[in-house]
Amino acid sequence: MNSSAAKRLLDRLPKVRGELEENAPLDRETWFRAGGPADVLFRPADRDDLIEFIRKKPKDVPVTVIGYGSNLLVRDGGVAGVVVRMGKRMAEIEIDGEDVSAGAGAGDVAVSAAARDAGVAGLEFLSGIPGTIGGALRMNAGAYGREMKDIVVECKALDPAGALHKLKPADLGFEYRHCGLPEDWIFTSAVMRGTHDDKAKIAERMAEIRRQREESQPLRTRTGGSTFANPPGHKAWKLIDEAGLRGFKLGGAMVSEKHTNFLINTGDASAADIENLGEEIRRRVKAKSGVTLEWEIRRIGRPSSAEAR
Ligand SMILES: Cc1cc2nc3c(=O)[nH]c(=O)nc-3n(C[C@H](O)[C@H](O)[C@H](O)COP(=O)(O)OP(=O)(O)OC[C@H]3O[C@@H](n4cnc5c(N)ncnc54)[C@H](O)[C@@H]3O)c2cc1C
Repeated sequence: MNSSAAKRLLDRLPKVRGELEENAPLDRETWFRAGGPADVLFRPADRDDLIEFIRKKPKDVPVTVIGYGSNLLVRDGGVAGVVVRMGKRMAEIEIDGEDVSAGAGAGDVAVSAAARDAGVAGLEFLSGIPGTIGGALRMNAGAYGREMKDIVVECKALDPAGALHKLKPADLGFEYRHCGLPEDWIFTSAVMRGTHDDKAKIAERMAEIRRQREESQPLRTRTGGSTFANPPGHKAWKLIDEAGLRGFKLGGAMVSEKHTNFLINTGDASAADIENLGEEIRRRVKAKSGVTLEWEIRRIGRPSSAEAR
């Protein structure tokens, strides 16, 4: 959308206490550092600000929520409507016995560290996942044999009309890297339950996770983590490796040499380069092994600015 059209959208939106920014670049909001702008980016001041906004906004304005953008490919044409960025203003963390409550904008790493400091075990796996609690709920994020499904005891989410619901795990339809909550609902917080353990032992397990990740993943780089879900009975990285794609490049995008299920923006990749590389991988893996890879990374937005007009 050009800026005058975005301006009109801004004029139609309710007053908020947080920030509304028009034509806001989203590349800076994602780990891939690629992709186009949001028509309007909304950073709520707090949960009530978000609730009021959702209740009052015109019904025809689409809303997309993002966390740290660590599982996200924003296409080059940007995202229509309002993108809500959950961040540090909805990131409170509280510990009550073995229960860890966190706002949906809290970082997984911060939540696991707070649990460790309180001697609550079971959330160590979150220390290796560079997203928010909201993104972790949406993706049923997991690692080392544990996932959100194993620790969530309750969460709160907003429906598209702005009503806040308290939900139990049975309401969430968790499956492998998937949550059944309708896509237009927004998580606002979660309660996760661990077990008491010695802080030093928890810290040791977290250090081991850090060591394993350093060894096997391209960290501190422009990536979206695992690109494809592991197909039943297979490892996506192995299928990609067997198709001869380690280090394979397309435009500015490349298959990581270190972990073949990670794609990398080598510096100036467009979102189209990254998506096209992913699609080429899918074609070649299918041809080599007969297995169809499904995207785990969420792709959002319009393909290119040309098509957006
Ligand atoms: C280096 C690296 C390592 C990774 N390792 C792992 C791993 O071990 N295990 C794993 O599972 N993942 C891993 N990931 C992927 C990613 O970190 C997770 O999927 C994470 O949970 C995404 O959280 P986010 O806040 O960044 O979500 P985003 O990427 O911002 O969004 C992802 C999806 O969640 C939705 N969403 C975000 N917040 C909310 C909300 N509040 N309410 C409703 N929907 C929401 C978005 O709309 C989008 O569909 C890794 C990624 C990287 C870059």
